[in-house]
Order: sequence, then structure tokens, then C-alpha cells
Amino acid sequence: MSYRARALTILGATGSIGVNTLAVAKHLGIPIHAITGHSKIALLAQQAREFRPALVVVSDPAAYADMQRELSGTGIRVACGAEALIEAAAEPAVGAVMTAIVGAAGLPATFAAVCAGKRVCIANKEPLVMAGNLIMAAARTHGAEILPVDSEHSAIFQCLEGHRGQNGAESDEVAELLLTGSGGPFRTVHDLHNVTLAQALKHPTWSMGPKITIDSATLMNKSLEIIEASWLFGLPPEQIRVLIHPQSVVHSMVTYVDGSVLAQLGRPDMRVPIQYALTFPRHVASDLKPPDFTALGALTFEDPDTARFPSISMAYAAAKVGGLAPTVMNAANEMAVAAFLAGRSTFLDIFRTVERALTNAPIMPAPSLDDIIAADRDVRARLAM
Ligand code: NDP
Ligand code: MG
Repeated sequence: MSYRARALTILGATGSIGVNTLAVAKHLGIPIHAITGHSKIALLAQQAREFRPALVVVSDPAAYADMQRELSGTGIRVACGAEALIEAAAEPAVGAVMTAIVGAAGLPATFAAVCAGKRVCIANKEPLVMAGNLIMAAARTHGAEILPVDSEHSAIFQCLEGHRGQNGAESDEVAELLLTGSGGPFRTVHDLHNVTLAQALKHPTWSMGPKITIDSATLMNKSLEIIEASWLFGLPPEQIRVLIHPQSVVHSMVTYVDGSVLAQLGRPDMRVPIQYALTFPRHVASDLKPPDFTALGALTFEDPDTARFPSISMAYAAAKVGGLAPTVMNAANEMAVAAFLAGRSTFLDIFRTVERALTNAPIMPAPSLDDIIAADRDVRARLAM
């Protein structure tokens, strides 16, 4: 099927990934079926007027009346709330879904898109961290195509081309996934006690929404990505290694058992992996430039400092425990990041909050989706007190 024949729903169209996805869809001539936003009503209305989707969803009920007023007379249907997000993801007219909501809030709609057998382009990594086994199993049952958008996972996906089995990577051919990360703004800062929010929000190479920018400063983003990669490619976390690569040119690599290593390279621009998820299996012309190799200088790699950034060890531990542990880690991190962004806590409090929550995580080996959503709510309720 041609990529232009797949009408697109963008969950989280008003965010960093959402805005980039609309730009890519415009370039490719892909029709937009639905867009969703949470609080940025003026931007969502402007996007609706430009792209003329059949459906616009505001997930925050407080914004519903304003949105209806903004779009009155346009013929565009406006809906609101969690059920409407699910409808936008699963309607029969939808061919592909971009999941670009931030955090656990995207889980129900991501799952609905998978169960409706769509091409699901996954930017929103937190649902995979929480419920990766359920999402991948549902994709197999319902014939959904899971396409990674996260730049590292898009890189690995491309490096696995021709070596993918039914259930992800052929683990007898793949020795290791090498997940690269810039190291964030504090890579060379030895004492993290007094770092500020403004410093944490200054990412050295990528421009992204606030939550993932803080996750990049704590390396929690890389931690979430270890678990994300493990589910996407069917490999245990022990076969996924983090490599700090400050230039953000090598987006990730795959080491094969014969010692051959494949890498995918590009500029740090999310429009490249977004476009590939929409056009896979084809690479289609764009106006995005490849890296200028002679201007780049050296490409360097180092191990992450897990003493300064304990998030990496927490991810391996949570993945090993399994069950609800990754959900607890993620929920505690979302709450701790929100507190830091609101100026209510320090940078190092993020590690303390996540560590404490993980120590108290309930043991449940095979949780259902409802168990996972309940555990996420419990952690949030406890930390909000
Ligand atoms: P942003 O904060 O820029 O955007 C988040 C989007 O989610 C917005 O559309 C926002 O609506 C919406 N939203 C926020 N809260 C809710 C909620 N409770 N219910 C429904 N919708 C909500 O985030 P990013 O675009 O940076 O990131 C999105 C996802 O993609 C994250 O999971 C991130 O980890 C992942 N990702 C992002 C990358 C990037 O380059 N930005 C790279 C790789 C992965 P509104 O703005 O209207 O309030
Ligand atoms: Mg990434």
C-alpha cells in the first residue's frame, strides 16, 4: 500500500513530534484523518484549519467548549476525553497512527491503535516501557505494524533490515544492540547538586518537548530506551548496551555475531525517522540534508557514568524484575520530572524519587493492562500527597 493511501491520525499533534509529523505529512502529501491536543487550543485549531482533518480531539475536557467555538462552521468534528482519543486511533478510516503524546497518558490510545491493526508509528515510548509485552503480542494478534520513531530505535530497525524474524530480531545473528545517546547537558559536569532547571533544559544536540529534555539530562531517556528496545527487537536488556556519543550523528548500531557492526547515521532531526516510519519500507526523497562528514570532525564514544547517572542501572534492574517495575519506574520519573519542571524539587531528587518508588514496587509477574494502569495511578497518587 502506498504511504499516501494511509490516512494519518496524530496523537499529540501540538507537541514537538506532532508538529514535525504534520510538516512531514505535508511534504509527503499524506491525508490527515485526526489530530489531538491537550492544552494548546489555539495551535490545535490552526492545525485543523490548515490540514482539514475529519476529527479533532482535545483530551482535556476543560478545553472542549473553546475548541468547539474555534472550529464552529468548519464542518470539522470536535470530540473530547479519553474515549475520543481511542476513537481517533482506531477508526476504520485510519491507516496509520503517530503516537506523539508524552508519557503514560498515551497508553490506552496506543493500545487501541495496535488492537485495530494499524501501522503504529511509536514516538511515545512510555507505553512500551509499561506494557511492551502486551503491545507486541497484540500487534502480532491483530496484524498491526509497529514502526519505531525514536531515532535510536529507527536506526536499529534499519540496521536489522534483512535479519528480522517473526518476533523481532533474530537473536542468533545479533550479538548486541548499541544504543547511542548524547550524554545530555551534564555529561562533563562532575557535581550535579547545584545544576538548575534552565541548564537541564538546554539540550546540546536535539530540540524536544520539556519532559524528554529533562529525561535526556538525567539519562532516564536512555534508560527508558533500553526497555523500549528490548520489547521492540525481542532481545533481553543484557544484550543492549548504552554508548555515549556526544555528536549525535551515529543514531545507534547493531553488532552481529560475526563481529560485523552496522550503524545508521544522520543529522539530529526527528523528521528523518518520522518520515521513514510513514514510508517504510521505502526511503522517499525529502529536503533534509545528510551529515556533512568533512565538517564533522571526530566522532567519539564512551561508556555512560552510571555512578553520576544511576538511572541506567535502575532501568536494567526494573527490566530484570519485570512485571510492574518498569511502570513504577516510569510513573515515579514522570512525577519527579513534573516537580522539577515546576521548580518544586532539585535535579538529584529525580533519582531519589525513582529509586525509592522502585524499592517499593509491588511484585506481579504478568500484569494485565488494567493492572498496569492501576499501578501507574497508585504511584502518582502516592507521590502527589
Ligand atoms: P511535547 O511535550 O512537545 O508534546 C506532547 C504532546 O502530548 C502535546 O501534543 C500535548 O498536548 C500532548 N499531551 C500532553 N499531556 C497529555 C495528556 N495528559 N493527554 C493527552 N495528550 C497530552 O512532547 P514531545 O513531542 O517531545 O514527545 C512526545 C513523545 O515522543 C514522548 O513520549 C517522547 O519521549 C517521545 N520522543 C520525542 C522526541 C522528540 O524529539 N521530541 C524524540 C523521541 C521520542 P498540548 O501541547 O496541547 O498540551
Ligand atoms: Mg531517542
